Amino acid sequence: MREHDVVVVGGGGAGLRAAIAADEAGADVAIVSKLHPVRSHTGAAEGGINAAFHDRDSTETHAYDTMKGADYLADAPAVEALCRETPEEVIQLERWGMSFSRTDAGGIDLRYLAGHSAPRTTYAGAETGHHLLHTLYQQVIKRGITVYDEYYVLSLAVTEEPNPDDRRCHGVVAYDLATGSLDGFIADGGVVLATGGLGQVYNHTTNAVANTGDGVAMAYRAGAAIQDMEFIQFHPTTLPSTGVLISEGVRGEGGILYNAEGERFMFEHGYANNAGELASRDVVSRAELLEIQNGRGIADHVHLDMRHIGEERIRDRLENIIPLAADFEGVDPITEPMPVKPGQHFAMGGVETDEYGRTSIEGLYAAGECACVSVHGSNRLGGNALPELIVFGKRAGRHAAGDDPGAAEIPTGQEARTETWNGAIEAAIGEPEAVPATVSDGGRSRDGGRSRDNPTSVVARRVERERHRIDRLMDREGANHAAIRSTLQHAFEEHVNVFRTRSGLESTLETLATCRRRYRDVAVSDPSRTFNTDLIQTIETRNMLDIAEAITLGALVREEFRGAHWRLNHQGRNDDEWLRHTYVTWNDGRPSIHFGEVLLAGESRTYEPKVRSY
Ligand SMILES: Cc1cc2nc3c(=O)[nH]c(=O)nc-3n(C[C@H](O)[C@H](O)[C@H](O)COP(=O)(O)OP(=O)(O)OC[C@H]3O[C@@H](n4cnc5c(N)ncnc54)[C@H](O)[C@@H]3O)c2cc1C
Repeated sequence: MREHDVVVVGGGGAGLRAAIAADEAGADVAIVSKLHPVRSHTGAAEGGINAAFHDRDSTETHAYDTMKGADYLADAPAVEALCRETPEEVIQLERWGMSFSRTDAGGIDLRYLAGHSAPRTTYAGAETGHHLLHTLYQQVIKRGITVYDEYYVLSLAVTEEPNPDDRRCHGVVAYDLATGSLDGFIADGGVVLATGGLGQVYNHTTNAVANTGDGVAMAYRAGAAIQDMEFIQFHPTTLPSTGVLISEGVRGEGGILYNAEGERFMFEHGYANNAGELASRDVVSRAELLEIQNGRGIADHVHLDMRHIGEERIRDRLENIIPLAADFEGVDPITEPMPVKPGQHFAMGGVETDEYGRTSIEGLYAAGECACVSVHGSNRLGGNALPELIVFGKRAGRHAAGDDPGAAEIPTGQEARTETWNGAIEAAIGEPEAVPATVSDGGRSRDGGRSRDNPTSVVARRVERERHRIDRLMDREGANHAAIRSTLQHAFEEHVNVFRTRSGLESTLETLATCRRRYRDVAVSDPSRTFNTDLIQTIETRNMLDIAEAITLGALVREEFRGAHWRLNHQGRNDDEWLRHTYVTWNDGRPSIHFGEVLLAGESRTYEPKVRSY
């Protein structure tokens, strides 16, 4: 058993920033990560980090653009904190050595990204995430923070009171990929989840294979609510063959979208008469798909043209786009337009937290893409995720280390849920037994949770359950997980994509119920205890099934069109009924859906919902 004050799960931007903050607050910190930190998906971020530095910009304008981009489903206290604190965080990054792109005068340069009313995005070429990760990792090394890399966290060690709001997280259980041994990690102060995105539930995604939503699934099964899961961002410029992202920086620098008829369709077909290509991502993704559906696509895609930007500027500001287009599509973007189409990119939802990163479970924090604080509402603006990592990663780390921020404005747990959905979902999700009764899924201890005050036994018991789960998976004959994962991804690609219908979502729930039944017989055929990717992917597939169900349920109940969520028979935003957050709770494998208030009142103003046009 290992013991630290703070255990941070994940070594991406959010995890590294949390670890640095916890270290600065005097805690003994460990990062536990399935990837080496600099291989985390933050490294793929291209476009940049928004910060209100420009003369024509302000914290207030940044907050307004963010609330509008979110289609008014974000919580103002969190949005204002994000916009207020990012500039100082960017300056901190620069002092730590991050090599931002510069103006001729030597200052940090700013560019436009979609949905912003001023140049606001600081960047480091088109490799912002890479520089961010390396800058933060250097600080982790400098401080001597312990890093357990290539340790896969299987579950949270949480007490087992019947009411999830009474539970306490004492640590995690991790599997050492190099040796196959299981380790319990006791976290005396707190566990910070920073496990990133969940894009692998889709086939066509900009996300890495490691983005399987593990932290969201672990927190969900441990009793924390997961919030606004139906809001999935589809990025309008991904390469058709692979899903590899072409940065929004291309459109920020003046890149133009054309259909097969050579029309600049964002204007010519009236999708966004003011902002054109720089309308927010949900708007541009839908426009592209409508062009394709109306027969004006080039096969399954449209064209993104940046030739007019000129080779010198492209090489200066967007250099990495050149090999991406050449290697994956065989196109030289200096002389030819690039094929692009929408692809899954980001999860707006995640583990419910308050504005200090606290979840409803004592001792459990979450930050970054796995969390929902909520700053993105129903649609994230480009360049607002990296600010989320550094602002809320820092907050979560500092508070996990014992710095008490006092009461939060954003409620969590039962306090946040004003209503429970009473519709019938059981027919769609099947009986609770359809959820494989693995020993790691919140089964109660015989002492009814009296072990609350004994962290060692809470963690030790969880280690034994995980040992039993792994032994079972490895000791039996059965089906491979890959076919189940593939079935799930295809159903999501078809029915839980940009355009959604009731029948498609219901059929996805049925597919998921079938996948769960098949998963009961899943087995790991690779007997090795070292670097057993078959085992890890089998466990990830289980996590994907749980969160896929929550996404689909949220999408099914939300009968409106808001931000990234579009429903065929409900093609309008319905503030009277749907200006509210969605929460899904695990409820021992029988998911419950709840709703709660959106906080539109900020410090200086209330963000009254308006018609959202660009
Ligand atoms: C291609 C691309 C480009 C983007 N560009 C931008 C941009 O320009 N600007 C912007 O603001 N946003 C951008 N985004 C979004 C942003 O980059 C991500 O939301 C953000 O980097 C996620 O950071 P994170 O720290 O939450 O997660 P990650 O960086 O994904 O890190 C997750 C960490 O968790 C660990 N982990 C996961 N599961 C486990 C487990 N079971 N056990 C142990 N460890 C685990 C992983 O090892 C990893 O270290 C982009 C996203 C993509 C996909």
